[in-house]
Amino acid sequence: MRGARIAIVGAGPAGLTAAITAAHFGLMTTVFDGAEDFTRVGGGIVIHSNGLRVLERLGLLESFKPLIFPCRKLVLELGGQYEIVSDYDELPIPHNYLAIVLRYQLQEHLLTSARKVAPILFAHRCTYAEARQAHARLEFANGARAEFEVVIGADGAHSQVRQSLGVSAVKKAAGAAYLRGVTELPSHPPVVREIWGSDGRRFGIAPLTEGRTYFYCSAPRGQWHEVLSQRLGAWIDTWNPYGELVRSALHRVPDWNAVNYDEPEDVRLKRWYSPPVFLIGDAAHAMTPNYSHHLKPGLRQRERRDAAHRAEADDYNIGLFKVSGHDRHP
Ligand SMILES: Cc1cc2nc3c(=O)[nH]c(=O)nc-3n(C[C@H](O)[C@H](O)[C@H](O)COP(=O)(O)OP(=O)(O)OC[C@H]3O[C@@H](n4cnc5c(N)ncnc54)[C@H](O)[C@@H]3O)c2cc1C
Repeated sequence: MRGARIAIVGAGPAGLTAAITAAHFGLMTTVFDGAEDFTRVGGGIVIHSNGLRVLERLGLLESFKPLIFPCRKLVLELGGQYEIVSDYDELPIPHNYLAIVLRYQLQEHLLTSARKVAPILFAHRCTYAEARQAHARLEFANGARAEFEVVIGADGAHSQVRQSLGVSAVKKAAGAAYLRGVTELPSHPPVVREIWGSDGRRFGIAPLTEGRTYFYCSAPRGQWHEVLSQRLGAWIDTWNPYGELVRSALHRVPDWNAVNYDEPEDVRLKRWYSPPVFLIGDAAHAMTPNYSHHLKPGLRQRERRDAAHRAEADDYNIGLFKVSGHDRHP
């Protein structure tokens, strides 16, 4: 493998981490991304224990810590009546906290490190990938073409590399859309709070460093751009039943144009390779954001208190996990 020409398509967290990891093993890569350049948009991201362990292993955790807000508690409010509290302090795992960071800061951190070991070529949107026996061919929207001995497709949930290869994928649209952005609440306790309303919407909030707060919430699917340009105030008012924290968070968003809108879908593959092309990250397996997202690192299982609560939680489709719960209004 040493000396092989390796291409990575996609400079998201997966592609950049792959480039840095490859360099640790003495492998040289070239990274291509379709975006014109790196931009500072979007909201936060929650890095769990497994992601933190990867950063640590690559020697990137200590220098990143000043940009991490560590949260040790996740509170899930169900329908305004029932709360599930996950206490990460009790988890016997390394880095037993939720690391809340701005997504672009994670990207910048990875990019700075990746640039030391690999050329990162923006404005290279891959339009076609073909796996031949001893090499793979890539074509780009800017007219460039290249051949590599190994290609890693890290171009996200809607992967063009995957589509070109004809690797079959089972896709399931979440039927929902989400926003991820930053707001400026005067204060916020060190807790990730997710509210599941009785109208089927979700609102999540988590503290960031430098007094900022990450929020993510349900958005009107297919209508967001019209809402943003014509009736943002009326849409914010629809969140009033969710309480003062949510209302205040939405009213303090400094730049709605920097908020990321997404219509996520689950993508599952039986096979994530067609040698010499391999898929990683969301290109290989994308999950829609749901409660299991937060439980990925493996929470210590705890009993829910009684059957009534279990039935209520099951209504919200979280029956796979046992967690501690209590009434919000006993
Ligand atoms: C609402 C929401 C909330 C989430 N919250 C969390 C969370 O809290 N914690 C967590 O761990 N995960 C979260 N996720 C998931 C997380 O964002 C993804 O798992 C992660 O971004 C996947 O990284 P990736 O590098 O595989 O793909 P991406 O981040 O999608 O990066 C893909 C890259 O490929 C580039 N690209 C795309 N197509 C092409 C092409 N044809 N040619 C060249 N380049 C291309 C893109 O420009 C991009 O830079 C969330 C997702 C959503 C939708």
